[in-house]
Amino acid sequence: MTDTLSEADAANELMRLARQIARHDKLYHADDAPEITDQEYDALTRRNRELEAALPHLIREDSPSKNVGHQIAASPLSKVTHEVRMMSLDNAFSDEGLLEFVERVRRYLNLADSETLAFTVEDKIDGLSCSLRYEKGKLVRAATRGDGQVGEDVTANVAHIPDIPQRLPDGVPDIFEVRGEVYMERAAFAALNEKAEAEDTKRFANPRNAAAGSLRQKDAKVTAERPLRFWAHGWGAASDIPGATQADVVAALRGWGFPISPLFARFETAQALIAHYNAISSQRPDLPYEIDGVVYKVDRLDWQERLGFLSKAPRWAIARKFPAEKAETTLEAIDIQVGRTGKLTPVGRLAPVLVGGVTVTNVTLHNRDEIERLGVRPGDRVVIQRAGDVIPQVVENLTRGVPREPFAFPHRCPVCGSEAVAEDDDVDVRCTGGLICEAQRTQRLEHFVSRKALDIEGLGSKTIAQFFDLGWLESPADIYRLKNRKDAILALEGWQDKSVDNLLAAVEDKREPDAARLLFGLGVRHVGETTSRDLMKALGTLPALREAAEAYSAYREENPREEGEKVSPFKTRMDQAAKDTLGVSDGIGATVAHALADFFHEPHNVAVWEDMLGNEEKEGEVSPPLYEVEVLDSPVAGKTVVFTGKLETMSRDEAKAQAERLGAKASGSVSAKTDLLVAGPGAGSKLKKAESLGIEVIDEAGWAAIVARAG
Ligand SMILES: [Zn+2]
Repeated sequence: MTDTLSEADAANELMRLARQIARHDKLYHADDAPEITDQEYDALTRRNRELEAALPHLIREDSPSKNVGHQIAASPLSKVTHEVRMMSLDNAFSDEGLLEFVERVRRYLNLADSETLAFTVEDKIDGLSCSLRYEKGKLVRAATRGDGQVGEDVTANVAHIPDIPQRLPDGVPDIFEVRGEVYMERAAFAALNEKAEAEDTKRFANPRNAAAGSLRQKDAKVTAERPLRFWAHGWGAASDIPGATQADVVAALRGWGFPISPLFARFETAQALIAHYNAISSQRPDLPYEIDGVVYKVDRLDWQERLGFLSKAPRWAIARKFPAEKAETTLEAIDIQVGRTGKLTPVGRLAPVLVGGVTVTNVTLHNRDEIERLGVRPGDRVVIQRAGDVIPQVVENLTRGVPREPFAFPHRCPVCGSEAVAEDDDVDVRCTGGLICEAQRTQRLEHFVSRKALDIEGLGSKTIAQFFDLGWLESPADIYRLKNRKDAILALEGWQDKSVDNLLAAVEDKREPDAARLLFGLGVRHVGETTSRDLMKALGTLPALREAAEAYSAYREENPREEGEKVSPFKTRMDQAAKDTLGVSDGIGATVAHALADFFHEPHNVAVWEDMLGNEEKEGEVSPPLYEVEVLDSPVAGKTVVFTGKLETMSRDEAKAQAERLGAKASGSVSAKTDLLVAGPGAGSKLKKAESLGIEVIDEAGWAAIVARAG
């Protein structure tokens, strides 16, 4: 396959693969929201390896093959280094593959044909591997697998999993790490997603991700609300092993109170191993949990020890994976759906086809890149696949190679007609019509009135949806015209004089809104709460902001990236232009300026903006005063303050906002310029540095006193 490929094409494909694999790694590990099946992921990495093997001089700096396993994403949970590495397993995909494994083990141990070689067999649950460390029978630490060497501390979280004992019976080894899987049963997963659907929060792609997302929570209370389960299948560090065989230890684990696989068994012949695989396979649809294969382990522990490990996996165990369920059909159409955040998602409509007992009519095509990768167009014959509860995917395009125009991904939103654009390194194309796009509107309105934006009480999501359906709320400015509909609102069920009056009073109260809140409420991409405040601090008024955005837009048009100009100097140039036009010093660059320029480039947004703020011809509904940061007279005015350690009575954000109000600058790092360090419990290097620099250090109570005196 590689020899028909030009080097340029191969280099391009390697670049695409690096990008795709990195993206899927992040989706899987950091977001717990994979878009492709494990098999597809394997196919991507396999293709990458093939190309690299054929053309080693094209191996990239950022090649996925250089990644040693999956890195753990930035996470609020602290890291735990496993004393004994958590291994992965090699896979067999067929009876032959399994028989070869058995033969390999026999050869390695140099066993006579007459010698019995027993294996344990259990189903491989699709969960999240976890290591539980018990010292003197007490659970002292629970950690996720992570990359096998370093995982995340989930001790507080597993306290809410009833299957995991906090204490083991007397007589257990002094140190024993129990290893197993945290998982969620199918029914619990379905209920969780139903609830998420009703509340319009994040849905999980499959039970594995639901389990991972539920366990890896900074706030263990969230974990407590999720029905997680656990079963044990092995061990890590141990001061003593309770038995001479795998089956012995598993029996001991059961005796200590751990659930184990109900399908766990021990067999002595290869034929029995295969038969048990088939038995498990046929029970699979009826099990209350998702499994993705069967695991075989050499039963005798002395033999396990002799067999040892290959680089990542033990030589004494193998996973036999179930095949993915595939079928061939025709892709009849590609529809573009617009999500509530404006993301354009292509959906493939299929000629109905039965896959593993389920009729499939739709597949997700994810994004523009995926369509390009598959080279699909309506009318193509495709192979689709479903695995577990993952949304079916196209895995192969059988019509590929026939020369024709590629599928034209729309440049306009199919719902509102606004421009649809992708940012530089984003694979998603988004509708820029935020405020007028039907698909996004109610959500945007909710954001507009939310607590951190305009903070209008009494306009909940149900009311917004109802008013929207009645045609009363087309855009944010309509909120201010609700006063003309008082009688109509009163006529609706559930409204009384008082509640209508309260709502209208809450709206009137925000006729002169804070400009930064208003800007944040408009929901311009990349313009969050802090950015809004910084922009308004620099520019003073919203008309000045618009002028600045348009100045940047003009610069961008007149000074496009020159031919041959590398990305990084171009980016530096645009960042500088952003700083010059927006008048901001740090933190805000071309990304924000771009987003603002795009926002004002869209006439619909301008119409909404003018409807609210007015133009030459008409007055707007609201008139935010000149933006001023309210600064109180205080002893820290003009000083630089750093917060470190744990704050007990307020969040870090709140502390920073307080500093700002007191006229101080909150900084993230200690330097000679720092005037004051506020140190809570657990303060470390920053405290040491401040002390060595002779900087004044106070505790949280001291800070609270300064705030109280100023207020
Ligand atoms: Zn739209």
